Amino acid sequence: MKTGKLYVSLILMVFMPLWLHSQTENVDLTMIYKIKQEGNQNSKIEELATGLTDFVGPRLTGSSGSTRGNEWAKKKMEEFGFQNVRIEEATDFNRGGWDNLKTYAAMTGPYYANFACNPVAWTGSTAGLVKGEVILVDVRSESDLEKYKGTLSGKIILMPSTSSTSYEISFQPLASRLTDEQLLQLSKESAPAGGRRQGQPFDIAAMLAQRLLRNKITELLKSEGAAVILNNAGTYNIPRSNGAGYNSGDKEPIAELNIPMEAHGRMERLIRQKVPVEMEVEILNKFFPNPKVYNVVGEIPGTDKNLKNEVVLLGAHIDSWHGGTGAADDASGCIVMMEALRIIKNLNVAPRRTIRVALWGGEEQGLNGSRGYVEKYLVDPKTKDHKADYDKFSVYFNMDNGSGRYRGINLQQNDMAGPVFEALLEPFAPLGCSTIAIRNTGGTDHLSFDRVGLPGFQFIQDEIEYGRGYHTVMDTYERLILADLRINAIITASLAYHAAMRNEKFPRKPVMNMPVQGVPGRRPPMQ
Ligand SMILES: [Zn+2]
Repeated sequence: MKTGKLYVSLILMVFMPLWLHSQTENVDLTMIYKIKQEGNQNSKIEELATGLTDFVGPRLTGSSGSTRGNEWAKKKMEEFGFQNVRIEEATDFNRGGWDNLKTYAAMTGPYYANFACNPVAWTGSTAGLVKGEVILVDVRSESDLEKYKGTLSGKIILMPSTSSTSYEISFQPLASRLTDEQLLQLSKESAPAGGRRQGQPFDIAAMLAQRLLRNKITELLKSEGAAVILNNAGTYNIPRSNGAGYNSGDKEPIAELNIPMEAHGRMERLIRQKVPVEMEVEILNKFFPNPKVYNVVGEIPGTDKNLKNEVVLLGAHIDSWHGGTGAADDASGCIVMMEALRIIKNLNVAPRRTIRVALWGGEEQGLNGSRGYVEKYLVDPKTKDHKADYDKFSVYFNMDNGSGRYRGINLQQNDMAGPVFEALLEPFAPLGCSTIAIRNTGGTDHLSFDRVGLPGFQFIQDEIEYGRGYHTVMDTYERLILADLRINAIITASLAYHAAMRNEKFPRKPVMNMPVQGVPGRRPPMQ
């Protein structure tokens, strides 16, 4: 059916060279041609990719790296000729500012081996270089805590592996693209799905019990005055936070290090077989008080006298975890959104509505930046009253599923937007991006808009190396597929352009007086 429709459309184009009339939507193929030329021949994707990963480095919320990232993005947006470019405060941040200045860890007995480690975010420093025997604190239940009391002062503590950090050899390919069958299945699913990835059902009670026990262990280690805690960083060497907050005025948390699972496993096996293990460890972290969460914003102002104050918004999150350089998550989204707006800018078109790009801060700790934007411009957080810009908001497009190519769009159950996307994505079917899935997806910044009744969409993307690309030390430039990112920028530019030119705003879900439903039971994916 799709081929037939395109054929009819192409015949119509002969008579109407500028606007192609499909059943419900105007699709400007001349503009799509120009967008493709600009995006392919004059691409800035590579320059943006090295800039935000290698030059800027990791961008943990509230760190100096996040400031560096925001300044870099602002400068690039100005270079590209965007207007009203600004770094704007989105919200307070409920943790301290934190920088890691030094990390060194090595096994010194029974023989020497150094390990590439990362401190857990928002944990403290060691008192200089700490040397000594490594103590395995094997606490499976609260009653096990007793036997360690009075024995841990100044010690290097190894936490045992857990079911989620034990290594299992995988026979799955490291990277994958969605197959035609998988895409067909997505387009047929009528029930709203949960998170962005379909995984094991999530046992929240077990997770909470585990967290509670872990807090009790940390309390014990703190009161004993242990020198440093070492965790198994899991299959893909994940260095992120233990969830602990840190506010200025708190006592600095105990130093804590995530070490590669192979290094961890070696030491744990030795200790369990009664071979003494010795280490030396030095960690230096710096805390600074009251950082804010910032967004970086730039735009191409609208030109239609009636529509110029309406906004088409493109976004991705600029914060990352601190182990790698946050390339797939989510520098890839940031550079695609910046490139999309650059393409439109360079074509010198005059969009009817304003097209704005926003790079969100603090996504990883709870969608802070996008939520702050919504509260600032769209909905009063206390009264829930709509602000003036609410009615002028058209649509938000978000990219936060890694470096893979767009394969379609998730409708977030917005049936009314289906025919719009069907028409706008049809020209990109040859690039493999035409699947329309009714499902809800969660876990990232489009939710900030969706939950206040505004159209916010997240793309379906090829997963590529999701496992080792998210939150890990391996999330670096190497994880990026620049050719895919070029295509994503082209498709985003076309969607943004058409959203800015169409007569109506993007269709919204009608307001209904229904009980609020939670997203059914899948684990919220990594963001
Ligand atoms: Zn992300």
